[in-house]
Amino acid sequence: MGIGIIVVDMINDFVTGELGISRAKDIIPNIKKLLDFARTKGISIIYACDSHSRDDAEVKLWGPHAIAGSKGAEIVEELKPREGDVLVKKNRYSPFFGTDLDRLMRDLGITELVLVGVSTDICILHTAADAFYRGYEIFVPSDCVEAFTREDHERALEYMKRVYGAKVMSSDELIKSLGG
Ligand code: ZN
Repeated sequence: MGIGIIVVDMINDFVTGELGISRAKDIIPNIKKLLDFARTKGISIIYACDSHSRDDAEVKLWGPHAIAGSKGAEIVEELKPREGDVLVKKNRYSPFFGTDLDRLMRDLGITELVLVGVSTDICILHTAADAFYRGYEIFVPSDCVEAFTREDHERALEYMKRVYGAKVMSSDELIKSLGG
């Protein structure tokens, strides 16, 4: 199937740690439900996670987070990858920057990307921009992404709809549209 789900930055530092988004815990069960469904359908799952050195531009701006090899850079326990999932380490907001992600998606025949994780207005938004530039269809289940505030979250969803043509719906609606 030509669909891939990109799980963005669901790592300890963004959920409970250094740059923890308290609202991120609420989306874990929704993401888990979507991934469990995807696995029954053979839909590709890609984890895109921050992995920084101490002199990365993002660390200078935000302070130390997701330092490569640290506990904070590990995917949260509830969403641990399974065999066959793809892992992409990134050091900017977008996992397309300086990585093999685009080629990987094309090799897998993926033309539609579902974006989940944090945060709606930063890494998800920049991933959507890069996906749009490269011609992918974008889906964002609104209960599988979060931001520091509700306003940041909602503004980013509206922006992605308007500017990148992202299709925004609930995870249940998405699962139904995929034959669940
Ligand atoms: Zn970062």
